[in-house]
Amino acid sequence: MRDILPPESGRWRRFTDVFADVVERAGYGQIVTPLLEDLGVFTRIGDATDVVTKEMYDFVDKGERHIALRPEMTASVCRAFAEHRPTVPWKVFYSGSNFRYEKPQRGRYRQFDQVGIEVLGADDAFLDVEVIALASEFYRRLGLRQVTLVVNSLGEPDDRARYVEALRAYFTAAGDRLSEASRATLERNPLRVLDSKRERDQELIAAAPQIGDFHSPEAAAHFVAVLDGLRTLDIEFTVEPKLVRGLDYYRRTIFEFQGGTLDSAQNALGGGGRYDGLVEALGGPATPGIGFALGVDRTLLACDDEGVFAAEPVELDAFVVDVTGGLQAVALTAELRAAGLAVDRGYDNRSMKAQMKLANRSGARFAVIIGDDELAAGTVVVKPMRGDGEQLAVPRSEISTHLAAHPDQN
Ligand code: AMP
Repeated sequence: MRDILPPESGRWRRFTDVFADVVERAGYGQIVTPLLEDLGVFTRIGDATDVVTKEMYDFVDKGERHIALRPEMTASVCRAFAEHRPTVPWKVFYSGSNFRYEKPQRGRYRQFDQVGIEVLGADDAFLDVEVIALASEFYRRLGLRQVTLVVNSLGEPDDRARYVEALRAYFTAAGDRLSEASRATLERNPLRVLDSKRERDQELIAAAPQIGDFHSPEAAAHFVAVLDGLRTLDIEFTVEPKLVRGLDYYRRTIFEFQGGTLDSAQNALGGGGRYDGLVEALGGPATPGIGFALGVDRTLLACDDEGVFAAEPVELDAFVVDVTGGLQAVALTAELRAAGLAVDRGYDNRSMKAQMKLANRSGARFAVIIGDDELAAGTVVVKPMRGDGEQLAVPRSEISTHLAAHPDQN
């Protein structure tokens, strides 16, 4: 778990602001759910995923309830839907922290943030297109150019079940040609063997049965419509028949966005898919759902690597230097801030030299200086801190208008 300090923290806030702007324009409203849920909310996601079985921060609270810090947000959104029964289609977005007890490394943390959207109550393949397009648009707004989209369809639940059995038979027949770790995965969830990055498994994975051969006509038609929609919007994609996703509840369309610069184990910047069935599992009516979650931490690493969406310290308009005791700075700073300017000041009645050093370091456009002479004359000195403009004395009562009228250094 990490601390996010300024100016990086400001970049985080801008990140979620840009995300909110993209999705609010598409009719999504923000949902805020608790950081904690009843453990059952997450175990219903599926018992074959590491996120649920191995990585949850769960504990018994003082009321003897078994609860967990959320490892992801889709289950909470579905729980909220089942509880409040809003009208459909219900389009929501979220941002916030999740917790997974993973092995920390660059791009993988035990507390990490995600932004995401979910739509409940619509089955339309072109909704899948909208959802994917919004993630693409968000990456575009950040300035990322090397993000690629891979898509797949896991078919209807029956198709998926038949496929899982075919994979189980295929990988079991391979015996110890499959790595030991993947043999353990096979016991729990044959689909996840396809996710193995181990060298030894690659040849077997390449020749494994393909989900496309198991699609029902309905699932195949849905997938074709999704791909047609993506082409209509000129969104580039690759169909990856071996794409599976970490959580078990996905059906039909799944997708992942991959960064061009991160290590392969961490290059998934975000992903999502359809999860018809999850609301039902959480006690609600049968409701189709689709959504995605994008990792904030990892996407910002990709931004660093691509040199886009940099952290920017707040630009100050003025830095107030008061060497008459400090009370002038109290009033002047308040007045300038009230006039809409970004203003900081020196404290502790330090020397002119020390305060000017702070003014310099602050990056402010102007230092606004009050000494005993200025106080007596009812003026302040305005000193441009960048450029080569001259400093000048301005009547105290005109300082806000003066600064507002001089957006540049001079
Ligand atoms: P998931 O909920 O597993 O589909 O993850 C969606 C996205 O969240 C991933 O693509 C990552 O960008 C991000 N993510 C998941 N787990 C972590 C983690 N432990 N640390 C940082 N980011 C993560």
